[in-house]
This record gives sequence, C-alpha cells and structure tokens, in this order.
Amino acid sequence: MIPKQQIVHLPVYQPGKPLEQVKRELGLTEVIKLASNENPFGCSPRAIEALQAEVANISIYPDSFATELTSLVAQHFQVATNQVIFGAGSDEVILMMARAYFVPGDETVMASTTFPQYKHNAEIEGAKIVEVPLTADGSHDLTAMLAAINERTKIVWVCNPNNPTGNVLPRDELAKFVADVPKHVIVVLDEAYIEYVAPEKAPDSLGLLQKHENVVLLRTFSKIYGLASLRIGFGLGHANVIKNINQAREPFNTTRMAQAAAAASLTDPTWVATCKQRNDEGLAYLRGEFDRLGLSYFDPNGNFVMVDCGMDSLQVFEGLQRRGIIARAGWKAYPTHVRITVGSREQNEKFIAALEAVLKGA
Ligand SMILES: *Cc1c(COP(=O)(O)O)cnc(C)c1O
Repeated sequence: MIPKQQIVHLPVYQPGKPLEQVKRELGLTEVIKLASNENPFGCSPRAIEALQAEVANISIYPDSFATELTSLVAQHFQVATNQVIFGAGSDEVILMMARAYFVPGDETVMASTTFPQYKHNAEIEGAKIVEVPLTADGSHDLTAMLAAINERTKIVWVCNPNNPTGNVLPRDELAKFVADVPKHVIVVLDEAYIEYVAPEKAPDSLGLLQKHENVVLLRTFSKIYGLASLRIGFGLGHANVIKNINQAREPFNTTRMAQAAAAASLTDPTWVATCKQRNDEGLAYLRGEFDRLGLSYFDPNGNFVMVDCGMDSLQVFEGLQRRGIIARAGWKAYPTHVRITVGSREQNEKFIAALEAVLKGA
C-alpha cells in the first residue's frame, strides 16, 4: 500500500488541544481559546432559529446546489448565480481548486508566511510550491510574487488580510497586481476576514472580479458570521472557473444545517455590524496594552493580532496555556511572535493579565 509520493512527508493537521483536555491536564476550571479566530460573540440569533427549524429535515440529503443560499449570496454580492460555489468551509473551496487545476509539475505562488491550506492542497496534487517571503512589515511582496509567476504557474494565492500577520494590501497596489498577472493564472483573493476591515482600507475585490476573468474571491461564514463548526464558505468567480471547480466538487459537500444558518445570517447585517464594532473596540484595547508593554505588532485588520513578545514564542504559548489562555505560535519565520484572537472585553483583559505575568516571569 503505497500512497502518493507527495503526501508522505506531510504532517497530520495539529489543531491544538481540545479545551477539555487542557483544563484536565492543567487543573484549570476556565480556559479561554483565542487560537482559531472564532467569533467570541457566537452567531446571529436568526441562524440559531433557522437551525432549530432545519433539525426536522436532517434525514434528508441537502440541496446539492444550495439553490436558496446561492440566490441570496448572488444577490448580496451582485453576481450571477453561476458565479458562486460553496464548500465545507472556504478550506474546501481551496481543496477543490487544487483538485480542479493542479497536475504534477504545475507551479503555484504564495506568500510565506500565510494561510497553510494553499500549500497543503497544492502539495497533495504534486504542484511545485513557490513561496515568496513577506515584507518586513508583514505584507505580501506583490512585486516579488509577480516576478515568481511563469508559464507553468496556475494559481497565485493572496490572503487579504493576511493570516497570521493581519496586514491588508493597499487597494491600488492590489488592483495593479491583479491587472499585471498573466491571464492564464488564477488570482485567489482569500478574504476570510474582509468584514472586519475598515471601509477606507478595504479592497474593491468585487470590482476586480467584474474586471478580470481570472479572479476568484474566497469568503467564509466561519469568522464574523460565527458558524465555524457548520463548515460553510464560498468562492466567487467567473462562470467558467466556477464551473470547473464545481466539476471537482462532491455532490453533498455542504449540509442542510449549514445552508440554512448561512442564509439566515446573511439577512442579519446588524449582527455583523455589532461584531465588527466590538472587534474594533477589542483591537483598540489590545493595541493600547501592547504599546504600554512595549511590544510591537503587525498592523491588525482582522479579528486577531500578531504580537512580538521578544522571547521564545513557544515559551509564551506554554506560559499562557498554564494560565488558561490558548494562543497560536510556532511560525518558523516568527520565532518570537504569538497570534491572538480578539476576544470579548473580559477575555482580552484576562489575556493581557496572563501575558504580563508570563513576560514578568521570563
Ligand atoms: C479561517 C480561514 C479560512 C477558512 O475558514 P473555513 O472555516 O474553512 O471557511 C480561510 N482562509 C483564511 C485566511 C482563514 O483564516
């Protein structure tokens, strides 16, 4: 039994210990998870209502084409219904794109450090990974990424805001990059955190989508919409590209519950606005505290901050965990940085208290 050569070196995804296990092992009664950029305020009450109503139907397969949700999303973003594809999270849209486009020997360009699923899925399909280091301020180096594209390149991935650094690309620079990328290359703009970005800094990605047939936008219901466990996200693209991704899609890849909750969430813009407002307040608080502690951080534009703790990040990670806070650390290029999700006010205050104690103890 010999697996594909390109997967034998891949690590199995390490999600971080479950909350219950951390509590048990460390004898803690309360553990706050700020490691996965989940929404600390949950999801819209309308989504909960929709889920409760949908429970009656769970013995029936879902609508393979998510017809109702597709119409809602198409309307919401002013695109045609054949420009929308849903996945079990935008993670699955990334997987489907890799399946639909890469054969061994193809190349794909991405930043380093960025969201790991682009590399993971491209590697499984045998594509050659071309990684372009971030600039010193944590941004994609679009000039170097453009230079890394050649005739074998199939997809270039742009994570905006970037996970884990949080940087958002200047609107004009991104527009110029997209215009300059050769037409045989798909430009993926992963916008998992776009709803958190200040309007004056937000890219005109829907405009880019209209203008360029090779643009695909990735969006998710996991972050500001607070539906991470339901696994639903989507891609927007040109009809021909979406058709090809659909050809690689499993028939029932999103569930009834996910479709119903996502549809209900889209009808509740007030919920999104409230979460953004609270996130803005949380970001302002964390920035103020990091400034007070003399810690530098990348420009945060999502619901997380990547802060330089000035000491081994794994030591900080463990110190925080002993105090009941789960953060994220371990990026090779950033050995002293920790990424922390913006929590509720109370969670943020507990995190800062724990961080101060860890830094003092060092
Ligand atoms: C969280 C995240 C996603 C995917 O989330 P799903 O839950 O799979 O929709 C995609 N891209 C980035 C950058 C993310 O941080």
